[in-house]
Amino acid sequence: MSDQPHPNGNLDLLARSLAAVWHPCSQMRHYEKFPLLPIARGEGVWLYDHNNKRYLDAISSWWVNLFGHCDPRISSAITDQLGKLEHVMLAGFTHEPVVQLSERLRELAPEGLGHCFYASDGASATEIALKMSAHYWRNSGKPDKTQFISLENSYHGETLGALSVTDVALFRDAYGALIRQQTTVPSPDSRKAAAGESAEDYALRCADALEQHLQRHHAQLAAFIIEPLVQGAAGMAMYHPVYLRRARQLCDRYEVHLIADEIAVGMGRTGTMFACEQAPQLSQPASVQGTKGITPDFLCLSKGITGGYLPLSVVMTHDEIYQAFYGDEMARGFLHSHSYTGNPLACRAALATLDIFTEDNVLAMNRNKAAYLNEIAAPLREHRAVRHWRNTGMMWAFEVQSPHADFAQRCFTLVLENGLLLRPIGNTIYFMPPYIIEEPEMDVLVNRTLRIVDQLS
Ligand SMILES: *Cc1c(COP(=O)(O)O)cnc(C)c1O
Repeated sequence: MSDQPHPNGNLDLLARSLAAVWHPCSQMRHYEKFPLLPIARGEGVWLYDHNNKRYLDAISSWWVNLFGHCDPRISSAITDQLGKLEHVMLAGFTHEPVVQLSERLRELAPEGLGHCFYASDGASATEIALKMSAHYWRNSGKPDKTQFISLENSYHGETLGALSVTDVALFRDAYGALIRQQTTVPSPDSRKAAAGESAEDYALRCADALEQHLQRHHAQLAAFIIEPLVQGAAGMAMYHPVYLRRARQLCDRYEVHLIADEIAVGMGRTGTMFACEQAPQLSQPASVQGTKGITPDFLCLSKGITGGYLPLSVVMTHDEIYQAFYGDEMARGFLHSHSYTGNPLACRAALATLDIFTEDNVLAMNRNKAAYLNEIAAPLREHRAVRHWRNTGMMWAFEVQSPHADFAQRCFTLVLENGLLLRPIGNTIYFMPPYIIEEPEMDVLVNRTLRIVDQLS
């Protein structure tokens, strides 16, 4: 150990990490200039380094955390399960936590999604939905339907199948030769609306483009995969919900499955339990309440489903899909598995997470919190360097006009100095805080961000 502690903590741990751990989504050499941040512990919205300096986790640790770090209710559910059963394979076996979780998700999810297929991470959920869709068509006598479409700037994970429906240039360029890249259709991203065009009109224009594509290619298309309401990795691109309703209608008309990837936006993040609930009836204005939203053919969940405690993902689908696999032949069944499918510890964490939603009336509480943040954020929203301020539920984003080409790196360094954890995407800064964030913590978040935006513009 060196005598001089690292500004953010434990130098020894840093050096050992760089020597032994290959960090994700990183150019490892950049850590020479921008050191890793060793985290010793977490509590609520705060992460603490080894010098006990704390950072407000305003991005919920890569969008997974819902109720803060080391929540006692989730921790004790996992501890309780540890004393009973840590794991058993799910082929040929079952257990109470996975059954209970499936029953409760069925009650919560858009109507009709009664069958749950589990995996451990988001990318695997995407793989499952894609494979299940194509296999459904094969079992239904339409083996030519093997192609997929996704939105421009889509993100559905980074395994090879998921990457084929992901439209991020950096990944496409590096791994394009390994995958069968699928086609994209225009994104209803409201930032792209023409001058004077409303977000709704723009979304409808993009839906027309979707229709043209479906008209021409539906015979080869298995499914359209979409991130409902917010395209996260695209820089928190938000769009009008009318697009979802139209997409549902068009997919029905052209016999193409609709896969809702709610890995990031599910579990209350957009203000409703699932983003699909917000799709308005086409005959009514978007503001009309009480509509039931749309039911996708596949709903993918992960990230927040365990409150951010353990890896778990699930693909939910309806009976018509399920029945197409049901029969005597093995080859007709869905041939897919992961070692940790339906892990009991992860299922217990998910059940505890669902309990908190009801016990704390989380969706109503979040509406008040979002209203408070929007109110105190006025100086940020009106800042001369801020563009496209936007908010959906517990997600906020805006672009910063800055002279610095290395904006994201500079910003990341500044936010850490200021005791925040934000991770800009290009020039987009976003907030996606844990739902337990309190008003004084929101004040800290907004005031410090304002200071950082001042320094960067
Ligand atoms: C994070 C994410 C994924 C991939 O999930 P992993 O667990 O990181 O594999 C897929 N789709 C969306 C929308 C995501 O945000």
